[in-house]
Amino acid sequence: MASQQRVVVVGGGLAAAGAVRSARESGFEGEVVVLAEEPRAPYERPPLSKGYLTGSDAASSVSPHDLRWYRRHEVDVRRGARAVALDPAAHTIDVEQRDGEDSTLAFDRLLLATGARARRFTGPGAGLRGVHVLRTLPDSTRLRTALRVGGRRVVVVGGGWIGLEAAAAARGYGNDVTVIVRGGEPLEAAVGAGLGAMFRGLHEQHGVEVRRGASVTALRGARGRVTSAVLSTGEEVPADLVLFGIGAVPNVELAASAGLHVDDGIVTDASLRTSADDVFAAGDVAAVWNPRLERHLRVEHWANAGASGAAAGRALALAPIAFDEVPYFFTDQYDLGMEYSGYGDLAADAEIVVRGDVPLTAASAADARREGIVFWLARDGRVVAGMNVNVWDVNPAVQRLIRSGRVVSRDELADSSVPLEALAGDAA
Ligand code: FAD
Repeated sequence: MASQQRVVVVGGGLAAAGAVRSARESGFEGEVVVLAEEPRAPYERPPLSKGYLTGSDAASSVSPHDLRWYRRHEVDVRRGARAVALDPAAHTIDVEQRDGEDSTLAFDRLLLATGARARRFTGPGAGLRGVHVLRTLPDSTRLRTALRVGGRRVVVVGGGWIGLEAAAAARGYGNDVTVIVRGGEPLEAAVGAGLGAMFRGLHEQHGVEVRRGASVTALRGARGRVTSAVLSTGEEVPADLVLFGIGAVPNVELAASAGLHVDDGIVTDASLRTSADDVFAAGDVAAVWNPRLERHLRVEHWANAGASGAAAGRALALAPIAFDEVPYFFTDQYDLGMEYSGYGDLAADAEIVVRGDVPLTAASAADARREGIVFWLARDGRVVAGMNVNVWDVNPAVQRLIRSGRVVSRDELADSSVPLEALAGDAA
């Protein structure tokens, strides 16, 4: 009987929170245990480089549910509990409990939502004080404390979303900010060179210096504290604080040592089922079979963590699922907010079509309004990705347009008078 069963969720992020919620909403009445190695209830991370970092949001804003919610829903959240060994055949998991006794738990079904950790710089000077990464709430608190002193020389290594958001926050506190970008433009891998240039223009307009085509090879310091970053170009950039935003590494070790199929992440089918019976994976750590791309896809974004976690929760409750979300993410930098939906893989050689006023260069950024929708139109005439910049409530229609697979023309896409709903073939 399901009411006598136990499901265990390993993880302390949004995927874990979404899973236990949906397991209960799907009517699972058995025991639910969450093993979260961090000392707090599962939390979400976007505010760590936005509202919490800038000081506008409280720490409580990062929690989808507070501890009362878990108690009310009879979810046993074990904080400071690290899952250290999984035996899929025996259906058991070993747990190291900080400030408590280690234990072995039996489970009927288990979800691995172990997420990812920040990739760290390992070169000379990596251990100096003043060197930061940004993944956890304590990371964000430490960074915020350092940034809000103001007037410091901040070097951000990496032109990805987290690096740029942190650069914006650092400028907001009145620091001098230099962003080091390895490629031609920030965010180039995610949105292409034109939109990457637009983001560079945005940051330059706010006084950030963006150094392109360079990486950090070493850090130098004095009395144990960082004083400069040495670039691959040989140049040395003075620094009181260095933040590495150089990507994340999926936490696959538990799954790998249990013999599960692991590649770039924990490999699952479209139902989030791993190679072991009764073991599922969701969120940043899961490489999920995507029928549209015909390959496994690992997505490191908030919406995916929530949606795949919720789908996995239904699977834990023995409800049938097929996970097929269009990847989605958002960012807020200065006064620019944007949402992106779509398949980066398919967008690589697509034509970019702009509806509204979104410049594709850094130079024109100063006088542009940065307000509109950008579409990636594949050669076969289908939209494979879309990004709305400072216009809202359109992303669901963009997603429907992508899902519809309808052939549309670049003129219709660029023309604001043609409703997206009509392009997506929505019933009137
Ligand atoms: P995580 O949030 O990484 O949580 C995994 C948890 O599992 C961690 O608490 C970890 O300690 C725990 N854990 C790992 N191993 C074990 C173990 N063996 N035992 C017990 N516990 C374990 N996405 C967007 O779309 N938009 C944004 O604006 C955005 N901003 C972001 C800003 C920051 C600073 C960061 C770091 C990420 C941001 N993201 C954003 C990405 C988004 O937050 C992630 O996709 C999401 O956090 C993934 O959730 P998750 O539950 O899969 O994993």
